Amino acid sequence: MRAALLCLLLCACAAGARAQRPARPYTVARLADGVYLFSAYFYSSLFVVTGQGVIATDPISPRVAQLYAQAIEGVTDQPVRYVIYSHDHTDHVAGGAVFAGTAQFVAQENARANIIARGDPDIVVPQITFRDHYEIKLGGREVRLLYFGENHSDSNVAIYLPAEKILMMVDMVYPGSVPFRDLPGTDVRKYLGTLRRLREIDFKILLYGHGSPGTKQWVDQYIAYFDDLIAEVRRLRRELSYEELVEEQQGRGDVRGLFDLYVERVAERAVETLRPKYGRWGGFDEWAIMNARRIVLYLIMDG
Ligand SMILES: [Zn+2]
Repeated sequence: MRAALLCLLLCACAAGARAQRPARPYTVARLADGVYLFSAYFYSSLFVVTGQGVIATDPISPRVAQLYAQAIEGVTDQPVRYVIYSHDHTDHVAGGAVFAGTAQFVAQENARANIIARGDPDIVVPQITFRDHYEIKLGGREVRLLYFGENHSDSNVAIYLPAEKILMMVDMVYPGSVPFRDLPGTDVRKYLGTLRRLREIDFKILLYGHGSPGTKQWVDQYIAYFDDLIAEVRRLRRELSYEELVEEQQGRGDVRGLFDLYVERVAERAVETLRPKYGRWGGFDEWAIMNARRIVLYLIMDG
C-alpha cells in the first residue's frame, strides 16, 4: 500500500514536472537594490531599474531579447531607456529591436563601426558612442563605461556600477573555468594589459556575460594563470628550440608538420606543468591545451 502510494506520488510529481517543462527558459537574480542579472541559454545580461527607466546591457539574440523584455517587465513597468553593448560580437548584441521604441543604444565607437560594416539587420546600430569613457546617470543611478583598449575584441568595455561595486566585463574572465578555447578574436598582449587594469577597479562582484556572478579574485587568478603559462612556455622554448626539433626529425616532415609538432610539444608540456595548480578548473582537460597553443604562438610572434 505504502509502495503504491509512493508510486502514485512519484508518478504525479513526474507528470507535474513534464507538464511544467515549457517553464521560463530564463532566470532573473537580484544582485543589489534595483540591479538584476538576466540569464538564458548560458548567456547573461545586467539590468538596472532606476527611478526614471531601465538601463539594460546586451540583448543577446532576437529570441533571447524577447525573453529579456519579459523578464524586465516582470520586475518593473518602466521602459528601457538605454541599451549598452558590452562589445560588438553578434552573439551578445543581436535582437535589440525589441527595445528600440524607448531606448537609446550605447557602445564604444569601434563597436558601431564593426556593426555597420557587418550590416546584420538583427543588430540595432548604436546611436551614442564614445572612445574611452562614458557615464549614464539616470534616476539617481550611475553606470560607467570604461574602455582600456583592445582585448577580447577592439570594442569590449567594462560596465561598472561604482555604488554597488559591480563590474561586468564580458568574455574576459570565466570564474571557475579556464579561459575560452584559444582566445578567439583576442589580442593577447592587450588582453593581458586589460586584465591588469581591471584589478585597479574597486569592485566585488564580477559579471562576465555567461553565468552566475563571480568575484574580483578571479581576475587575480587569471593573471596568475597567464603569468604561469607564459613563464612555463618561455622556459620550455629555451629548453627545446624549433631548430633543434627540425634537426631531431632529420629531414622528416614538411614546414607545416614540423611547426605544428613544435607548438604541440611545448603546449602539451606546459599544460602538464600547470595541471597540479589549475587542473581542477572547469574545462581544463579540453581548453588548457588550446590556451597553451595560443600562448606558444603569441610568444613565437610577439613575446
Ligand atoms: Zn565576444
